[in-house]
Amino acid sequence: MISLSDLRSNPALVKLDLYCKGLRLDDSCLVEEDGGRKVLRTRAGLGSGLELILPGNLWTNAPVTERFAADSPYTLHRENGRYLLRWNGDDVTAVTLSPRPGWYDRQTSTAKPMTRIGTLQGTYLGIYQAKVCEYWTVKPEKVNCKFCSVGLNLGIDDADDKSIDEVMEVVRAAREESGITYVDFNTGHYEGDTYLDILEPFIVRIKRELGLLVGVQTPPHRDLRRYDHLRAIGVNRVSFCFEIFDRQLFEEVCPGKHAEYGLDHYLEAVRYCATLSRKGPKDEPWVANGEIIAGLEPPESSIRAIDWITSVGAIPTVCVFRPLVGTDLQDAEPPKTEEMIPVFRRLYEACMERKLPVGVAPNIHVSLVMLPEECRALSPNRYPLQTLKLRAMSKVFGRRFGKRLERMATPKAPTRTAAGLATPA
Ligand code: SF4
Repeated sequence: MISLSDLRSNPALVKLDLYCKGLRLDDSCLVEEDGGRKVLRTRAGLGSGLELILPGNLWTNAPVTERFAADSPYTLHRENGRYLLRWNGDDVTAVTLSPRPGWYDRQTSTAKPMTRIGTLQGTYLGIYQAKVCEYWTVKPEKVNCKFCSVGLNLGIDDADDKSIDEVMEVVRAAREESGITYVDFNTGHYEGDTYLDILEPFIVRIKRELGLLVGVQTPPHRDLRRYDHLRAIGVNRVSFCFEIFDRQLFEEVCPGKHAEYGLDHYLEAVRYCATLSRKGPKDEPWVANGEIIAGLEPPESSIRAIDWITSVGAIPTVCVFRPLVGTDLQDAEPPKTEEMIPVFRRLYEACMERKLPVGVAPNIHVSLVMLPEECRALSPNRYPLQTLKLRAMSKVFGRRFGKRLERMATPKAPTRTAAGLATPA
């Protein structure tokens, strides 16, 4: 059983417990008036909650609109101008609202709200590019992933048609005003595996004009050599969301992914991409991620997934299942924190045992998942040598990357392209 003193002494446990139990907002809270971020449903619906910063600089997204959050022991209160998190009426800790940047209230030059192009998820910019995932448009049989809300979101909080110039406008605003270092593109499935063709021009522009880190989360392209090209143009992260390691549950919960690609192709893409870190531009870091959703399968199966992903040199991204309003699983129960603790403990331990480069990229705080390094506080094990090595890597990379961003920030005279668009040379 989790106690008040556990929560007061362990912000990582609070982050995990909030994912599982949600949060109720007291009437005293004035989130947007106090500069906080509006609750937006984005990124496969995982980002449906209130963006907060917990002690230890842990950024989180606490569920507030889902049914289960109405019974949460956690409440948020505003007292004397600061926000307090309470658990069954007792103070746990002071928290901060994740700041809403000025560009959240602005429009692009094409009159689209900038938040319909991209939103901050913690401290990075997330963009759901292109039209709705085609698993949502198959009829009469439903093949969308049962936990997913993308087909409910698009056209509400996300625009379904985003030009390169619109995206660049928002990326620049997020770089200049929010100090982002990383842009994450996310797509669903499109007939003909066109997702990488769609994303590559965006990636090339961001790399050439701003030098930011860029990640891509799409289905696993059938031609795995396409990832060699992504590596060559400077992409820094590829992520494959197979969600569930148990084959039968994968088929049941993700019928479109099962029929189109199958779990084995997802795993092969993770394995293949993990080998690419030894290739490509030396000044561009590279990681391959396998993403799973803990709580959709037994914890032992999630742990097996973590062990498999790390065994091939990839880094697991582990989300906590959130039964989102309007989805096929909206009436399912969220997982129990006690069952999630061993999963996230294993996430930290497996990454450290395999000496994977976690927590190295500068200024990336993720609100939608527990990062492997954040799970340190859930494990009794310490890895002093690996911890020192990661700190050194982080310093060296941070210094080099900072210099690159400074160089890129030097204004360049605009030139006219064949298409007549003014872009920096
Ligand atoms: S692949 Fe599944 S999770 Fe991803 S957008 Fe499509 S339905 Fe949603």
